[in-house]
Amino acid sequence: MARSWLLLIVLTLPLAAPVASAETEPAKRLFGAVADPSPQAPEVFGGYSKGCLAGAMRLAPTGEGWQAMRLSRNRNFGHPSMIAFIERLSTAAQAIGWPGVLVGDIAQPRGGPMLTGHRSHQTGIDADFWMRPAPDRELTRQEREKLSSFNVVAPDRKSLSQAWTPEHYDVIRAAAEDLGVARIFVNAAIKQGLCEQARDRGDDRGWLRKVRPWWGHDHHFHVRLHCPPGSPGCQAQDPPPPGDGCDATLAWWFSDEALNPKPKPGPKKVRKAVTLADLPEACRSLVTR
Ligand SMILES: [Zn+2]
Repeated sequence: MARSWLLLIVLTLPLAAPVASAETEPAKRLFGAVADPSPQAPEVFGGYSKGCLAGAMRLAPTGEGWQAMRLSRNRNFGHPSMIAFIERLSTAAQAIGWPGVLVGDIAQPRGGPMLTGHRSHQTGIDADFWMRPAPDRELTRQEREKLSSFNVVAPDRKSLSQAWTPEHYDVIRAAAEDLGVARIFVNAAIKQGLCEQARDRGDDRGWLRKVRPWWGHDHHFHVRLHCPPGSPGCQAQDPPPPGDGCDATLAWWFSDEALNPKPKPGPKKVRKAVTLADLPEACRSLVTR
């Protein structure tokens, strides 16, 4: 009798263990460990910073007008709407005279939190595009790991660097005018440069509304798409406030408060790792099946 109980326990343990650990395991480890998309219809669950992606599409490392960078990270997966956007942007960029688009992180094969780096990029509808144009040849796998982007913001953090060209303006404008795009994040100095150059060129300013200032984003711009059709569980962000954003809200980004944020007094808060319980229910089956 005792032996059969022991046998039962031994047989049950390995079955119970993965379920128990999936509950306490940081979700970034679970999502970071999956190498391929789930074999399902494409669907976004949750929000940009707390979500996941079923049925992702892999961006080909090299396409007509784009090259995907840092392939070792395995973050060149997105919702098909993002892959289609990259195709459109690459075509538009080449027409502008930008030799090709270098694509940084999109999302992991099943989205979700990442082991390192971004807090967003979890649902396959965010992607980073380098400020460095692609060379006119195919980069090797190793070059895609080693090459760096250009910083288009000057050391004063208030103006643009020598690396900025009129084509940067044209490419970001083309991205912002795409109907699939909800927001584009750039460094405040870039937003300011775009505001001034739109005025100097006498351009239409409607597209500037989508281009939002954020910290960093001086080597790349970040494109966020609208929730795609067929994803009722996708949580959209509120639309940007009306207007072109070339106003006092932009000026704040150049204040001492924004440029040199003071550390909060008291002990440093440690952010609790996101677990499956923090993500939409549908995300669970993407990493536990
Ligand atoms: Zn990004």
